Amino acid sequence: MSISVQNVSKRYGTQVALNRVSFEIGPGKIVGFLGPNGAGKSTMMKIITCYIPPSDGRVSVCGHDVMEDSINARKCIGYLPEHNPLYTDMYVREYLTFVGGIHKIPNVKQRVEEMIDTVGLTVEAHKKIETLSKGYRQRVGLAQALLHDPKVLILDEPTSGLDPNQLAEIRELIVKIGRQKTVMLSTHIMQEVEAMCDHALIIDRGNIVAENLVMSQLAQSNRKLEDIFKEVTGKAHAL
Ligand code: ADP
Ligand code: MG
Repeated sequence: MSISVQNVSKRYGTQVALNRVSFEIGPGKIVGFLGPNGAGKSTMMKIITCYIPPSDGRVSVCGHDVMEDSINARKCIGYLPEHNPLYTDMYVREYLTFVGGIHKIPNVKQRVEEMIDTVGLTVEAHKKIETLSKGYRQRVGLAQALLHDPKVLILDEPTSGLDPNQLAEIRELIVKIGRQKTVMLSTHIMQEVEAMCDHALIIDRGNIVAENLVMSQLAQSNRKLEDIFKEVTGKAHAL
């Protein structure tokens, strides 16, 4: 399994953010991770990417336990965090070269140029990050996540706040990148998951409330992901 999550709980003081969460994601899949705000999506992604430890349970990425073998787990992971934190006073090439140095990538200059090309940044690559539009900033974020050629990509709301054109472009890019990788992405846009993902799982108040929702099966049975989302997160009759 690319990602294996077993009985993971996370408590922030008395706040339970994740409650015995388990799921697995196989190699080469693009998986949508859905849930209302505050459901625990970012917390789960921070645990998978070794940014914070779980309170209980086990997570492994490409067979590496995130607590016991965190360096090797991290080598397999590219992560685009929520709100895409970037050093905005750096130039695009300067920033990507800096990230490449952290990963100790050989021939970093060449690799940076390859990634600039892959994510479609060529025309903006000479600029300071602070001068880029949100769509191009997302491309910089994706380039940094891809630099060390990880097998697994964790993307936390990668399309939030984009205009319709940027949205279509970034989605296309994620699908293109996802052909060779395992991708787990969170989003609030159900059509996005239907269009991009092989399957989806839904979390609500720290509990997995639906998993293995296979998009091709939903399409065949004429079921809408949005209806399932409302049903399992308790909003079906609230309106
Ligand atoms: P989502 O990404 O699905 O919106 P989060 O994982 O960010 O959800 O948050 C899950 C819950 O944990 C929320 O109730 C949130 O307020 C809480 N939470 C997240 N981070 C912290 C933190 N560092 N300290 C205390 N509570 C937190
Ligand atoms: Mg979040």
